[in-house]
This record gives sequence, structure tokens and C-alpha cells, in this order.
Amino acid sequence: MVPEPVAAALRAARRPVCAYVYDPTVAIDRIAALRAALPAGTQVLYAVKANGNPDLLRAIAAHADGLEVASGGELALAQAAGARTIAFAGPAKTDDELAAAVTAGAMIHVESAHELRRLTHLAAGRPTRVALRVNRAADTPSGSHRMTGTPTPFGIAEDDLDTLPRDLPISGFHLHAVSNNLDAAAHAAFIDDAVRWSTAAAARLGIDLTYVNVGGGLGIDYTGDQRFDLTALRTIRTPVTVEPGRWITADAGWYAAEVIDLKRNHGRWFAVLRGGTHHFRLPAAWGYSHPFTIHAVDDWPHPFPRPEVTDVPVDATGELCTPRDVLTRGQHVDRLRVGDVLVYARTGAYGWDISHHDFLRHPYPEVTVLPAVG
Ligand SMILES: *Cc1c(COP(=O)(O)O)cnc(C)c1O
Repeated sequence: MVPEPVAAALRAARRPVCAYVYDPTVAIDRIAALRAALPAGTQVLYAVKANGNPDLLRAIAAHADGLEVASGGELALAQAAGARTIAFAGPAKTDDELAAAVTAGAMIHVESAHELRRLTHLAAGRPTRVALRVNRAADTPSGSHRMTGTPTPFGIAEDDLDTLPRDLPISGFHLHAVSNNLDAAAHAAFIDDAVRWSTAAAARLGIDLTYVNVGGGLGIDYTGDQRFDLTALRTIRTPVTVEPGRWITADAGWYAAEVIDLKRNHGRWFAVLRGGTHHFRLPAAWGYSHPFTIHAVDDWPHPFPRPEVTDVPVDATGELCTPRDVLTRGQHVDRLRVGDVLVYARTGAYGWDISHHDFLRHPYPEVTVLPAVG
């Protein structure tokens, strides 16, 4: 079902409908639930790269402990949104970005010995908050993307920690390791282990440990109804910093695209949309079929017959001139008509923000951010 405020936004949208609708209240509720599941003193940051819509970000910034950014552009967005605190990671920070992060008072997650030397030089004695992003030798929990325990460009190899320059005071460690992990018990074990490891590493390195950032990575099930079970996190006893993106905003977004044509080719039905993977790239990037619900539009003002299919599987494809522009494959519809709107839930994270908007130069979707409640 399409929630009524989203349906109302779609009824008010320009035709043919092509729109993102964001509901900040969903994200705000997620932040509150995550905070309630973790020990008092835990910091819940939101990873801006999942969705940097400025209005959504402002609503989130008012409820999160801060924002996590991965570029100078995101740093500026986070400042404009009124972030209480900012954490800055990223494997290729430029001098300008590092200097801006120092000026902003951000916690800088340093990713290499060279970056630490550059930061020390740029900080030039100014107060600077630093944590070491570490690629641990140990394995990490399962998920779609692994960042550590495996060769990646992220973080400092565990073996290199002992030889780092130590001119700046170090607050602790950043151990973001995985994305889209649906196994909450495994995630809780990862967090516990990250705390244990950080305590031991800080003792060995002579670091006065005040900061353990365990990253994001809480998963969303795009094709089924599995949920990340927050109750599994209640076993964690030590306050940490977390910075999820996907889990906070995925369910806060709906992408809607009107059916422009219905056709049968080589035995398959295609619903061709005003929209596609240039607005919502995730299914194409990950190679899965994203389910839709139908927002029926009864109005048909034209003198010619309205194309319609009943009781068939359809592929939902976009307006791009490439056979890869596919959002959904083989979803059964009871009835679908040209002029109906396909609504894609769970598109609030890594949707618009990761898509190649300008390929073919179609107009952008309308964006509606619903008022935040609470
Ligand atoms: C992308 C990213 C996150 C957020 O990851 P999710 O999987 O969206 O929760 C957090 N921290 C860092 C350093 C990241 O790069």
C-alpha cells in the first residue's frame, strides 16, 4: 500500500507523474528507535551520502546527534542543515577538504599515514579532532559490500598503526566495515568485537580512548519483508558512535513513475515509464528486481482507447535508450493501465543520489518533502 500522504502528493503531482516523495518522519523515527536500542551515551549520526536532499537533511539534523560526510560538498550540506556534530571520512580527501573539516570542527576519520601527516601540517596547531579509520585484519559480518578484513582502499592497515606519526591527539577509531547487513545478531557481535578491539588497541598505542565509531551498514530487504531486528543490539553495553545511511532513509522515500506505454515484445509485457534507472539506479547497479505497487489513476481524458493489461507479469522499464533501464522484472499485475503510476517504496537511500541524472537529458523528477511530524 502507498501511505496516504504519499498518495496525496502523487495526486497533486504534474502529469505524467515522475516524482520522489520523502517523509522525514520515517527517518526521525528510525533514529529514535536506534538510540533506544543502544546504551545511553551512544551517538547516532546519519550518513549524508545515502540521501543529501537539503530539506530532508535539515529535518534529520534536528533529531540525529550529527551527520557523517564523505566530501567537501557533503560537509557544506551538513553545515547548512545545522548538524550538531560532523564526522568526515573518505579515502581521497584533498587538502582543501581537510582544511575545511578542521575549520568546521569535524571529527576527521584519517585513512592513511600520509593523510595524517597532511592533516597535521594543515591544522598548524589548531584544535583538531582525529580518529583512525582502520581496516582490521579480522573478518567482518556479512552484507552486500565489505570494506574491511579484505583488501580495499579504506582505512589504515591494522599492522601499520604502530608506526603512525603521533603529533595530533587521537580520540579513537572508526571501524565502518560493511553495508546492507540484515543479520542484526551478527552486527551486534561485530560492534562488541569492535569495542573490545578498540580498547586493546588504544591501550597498546597509548591512546586515551573516547571515541569508537562502528559505522553504518544496517540492512534493508528490498525484495522481501526481512527486517533488521533492533532488539539484537540490546546486548551491547558500551556507548559507541553509529552512522547508518541506508537503514535511516530507505523507507523514507517513494519513487513514482507514470506508465507511458504498455506493449508486448517477444512474448513479454513491458510497462514503459516516465522515469527509470537514471532516477533510481539501485536495481540496475545491484542486479535485482525492485517491487512496485500500483497507484491507480482513473481519469482518462483522451478520445482513443486506454491500453490495459490484466493478470500478466510485466517488466517495468524506463525512458532510456538502453535495455539495462529496468526497474522490475516479471511482477504480476491484476490490472495495469497506461496512465497508472508505479510506486517504488524503499527508494529513500541510494536512490536519486547515486543515479546518472543527466543521461539522455530527460527532466528531473518532482521532489516533495512531506512536513516532519514530531
Ligand atoms: C556509506 C558509509 C556509511 C553508511 O553506510 P550504510 O550502509 O548506508 O549504513 C557510514 N560510514 C561510512 C564511512 C560510509 O562510507
